[in-house]
Amino acid sequence: MLTDYRVRQRDYLLQISRALTSRLNLTEVLNMILQQATDLLNGSAALIALVEADGTYRVRQSYGISEVLLERLGTLKFGGGLKQAIRELESRLVRLASEFGLGTWQVIAMPLQVGEDEFLGAIYVFRARGIPFGVSDRQLLQSFADQAAIAVNNARLYEQLAHEKRRLDAILEFSADGVAILDAAHRILTFNRTLSRLLKIPAERALGQRFEDVVKLVQKRSGMTLEEAEAGGWPIVGATRPVRVEGDLRCSDGSTVSVEIAFVPLFSREGRLINIIADVYDLTRFRIAEEIKATFISAISHELKTPVTLIKGYASTLLRQDAQWDEEVVRESLRVIEEEADHLHELIENLLDASRAQTGRFRLSPVELDLNELVHKVARKFQAQAPTHRIQVALAEDLPLVFADEARITQVLGNLLSNAIKYSPPSSEIRITGQATPTEVILSISDQGPGIPPEEQERIFDRFYRGENALRGGKPGTGLGLYLTRALVEAHGGRIWVESDGKSGSTFHFSLPRSSALVTSATKQAP
Ligand code: ADP
Repeated sequence: MLTDYRVRQRDYLLQISRALTSRLNLTEVLNMILQQATDLLNGSAALIALVEADGTYRVRQSYGISEVLLERLGTLKFGGGLKQAIRELESRLVRLASEFGLGTWQVIAMPLQVGEDEFLGAIYVFRARGIPFGVSDRQLLQSFADQAAIAVNNARLYEQLAHEKRRLDAILEFSADGVAILDAAHRILTFNRTLSRLLKIPAERALGQRFEDVVKLVQKRSGMTLEEAEAGGWPIVGATRPVRVEGDLRCSDGSTVSVEIAFVPLFSREGRLINIIADVYDLTRFRIAEEIKATFISAISHELKTPVTLIKGYASTLLRQDAQWDEEVVRESLRVIEEEADHLHELIENLLDASRAQTGRFRLSPVELDLNELVHKVARKFQAQAPTHRIQVALAEDLPLVFADEARITQVLGNLLSNAIKYSPPSSEIRITGQATPTEVILSISDQGPGIPPEEQERIFDRFYRGENALRGGKPGTGLGLYLTRALVEAHGGRIWVESDGKSGSTFHFSLPRSSALVTSATKQAP
C-alpha cells in the first residue's frame, strides 16, 4: 500500500517536472511550482523567495498569502548565507501569521539549488492546521525542489536572454549608424531605422532581399565590396577583421548618399559563417565639412594674397633706386600700405576670434551703452568708405541703454554693414532701424541686394559657410563674418536672425538685452 503511494507520488513528481521544465515564462513557472508544492504537501499556502542580482532576498511569488502580510515582509537582506536566510524568513512568517490572527502555521522550507553551490532562493510551504510536516514531507519537497530549481533556472536564463535581446535590438534600432544583419547568402535579416531613413526604403521592403539589391553602390571610391572580398577568400575563420568600402549609394528616390560600409563576419562555434553585419556610416556631413574647408582655404588664401600683393607692389615701387617720387605719391603709397596692413590685421583678428568663439572664450567689457550715438558713428564711417550707397539711420526716439561691449558691438554693426554694402548694388539704399521691446533693443539692417534664399538662412551663420550669391558673384570673403557676428551677439545674451524672400534684399536683425532688464534680473537673483 505504502509502495503504491510512493509510486504514485513519483509518477506525479515526474509529471510535474515535465510540465515545469517545458515552460519558460518565469512567473508562470513560479505559479505552477507553488500550486503543485501546496498540492503535493497538502498545504494551504506557499511562497518562493529568490536571490536578486543585488544579493537581496525577495518574495517573487506567493500562493494563498494575503498582500498585507507580504507587504509587511518587505525586502529581505540577510548577511549569513541562504540557510540562515531560510530560517529567518520562516520564523518571520510564523510570527506574522499569528500577529494577523491566522493561527499556528506549520512551515517547511527547502532551498532551490542548481548544482553544488548555486542558490536561486527557497520555497516555503505552509499548513494552517492539521498534522505537522514530517520526514517524508521533507523528502518529497526536496525532490520537488530540485526539479523546480531547474525550471526556475531555465526560465530565469530565458528571461535574461530575452532581456539582453531586447536591449541589443534597441541599441541596433536606434544606432546612429545604419546597420543590416545578413545571412551567409547576403539576405537581409535585420534592417535598422537609420539605414531605412538613409536610403528611404522601409525595413519591410528590404527584409529577405539580397543586400546588394537594396543597398546599391553606384560609385566606389575605395575599398572592397562584399563580393570582391569574398572572391579573395574573405572571411577567414577566426579573423574578424572587417572589410570596408567607401562610395555612393543610390536611395529609393534616385538621390545618392556618400557612405562607408564595414562588413564584419560572425562565425558559429564550428567555424561556419552565420551572419555578416553591415555597418553603414553616412559621410554626408564629413563631405560637406571637407568642401567647406576647401572653400575656406581657397578664400582665405585669396584674402591674404590681395593685401600682401598690394603692400609688396607699393613698397617695391617706393624702393626703386632709379626713380624719384614726389611727396604726394609717397604719401598715397604709404596710405595704401597702411590700409592693406590694417586689412591683414583685421583678417588675422577674425581668425583668432573664430577660434575664441569656438571655445566660448570671448572676453567682454560691457558698459551702459547708448546705441543711438554708436550707430550714427559707425554709419558715418561706412558712408565715407562707400560713398555711392545711401546709408539711412532711423532709430526710435528714446532708445534705451544696453549693457554691452562697445568695441564688440561696433564689430557686429561693422560686419553687417560691410556685408550689406558688399552684396547690394552701388547707389542702393541701406537702412538701419532700431526699436525697443520691454526687455530688449532690436537693431535691423536692410539692404536692396540679391537676398538670401530660405534654405540658406540658417547656414549663413555657420563657420566658413559662403552663400551661392557670394561664390557666383566672386565676392571677396572668408565665410567668417556672420559666424563671428552671431557668436558676439549671443555672448551678450542677444539673438540674430535674417529675413529675406531670397529675391529682393535682406534684413538682418539682432537684439541686445536692455540695460534695465539686466539690472532687474541681476537684482532678482541677488540673495
Ligand atoms: P562672407 O565672407 O562670405 O561675406 P559671411 O559670414 O559674412 O561671409 O556671410 C556668409 C554668407 O551670407 C555670404 O557668403 C553671403 O552668401 C551671405 N550674406 C551675408 N550678408 C548678406 C547680405 N547682406 N545680402 C546677401 N547675402 C548675404
